[in-house]
Amino acid sequence: MKGLKKQHLPEKLCAACGRPFTWRKKWERVWDEVKFCSDRCRMMKGKPRAG
Ligand SMILES: [Zn+2]
Repeated sequence: MKGLKKQHLPEKLCAACGRPFTWRKKWERVWDEVKFCSDRCRMMKGKPRAG
């Protein structure tokens, strides 16, 4: 085995597309609030709709 260190980063499921996404540096301060894997997904769910 090679000594390649693989950090285990936290994961979440995207609330829009349902896919798992991994912690990113840009989210380090807001990780608890992150619900979407991308801005696109956030926009998908950003508009409230009846139902
Ligand atoms: Zn997504």
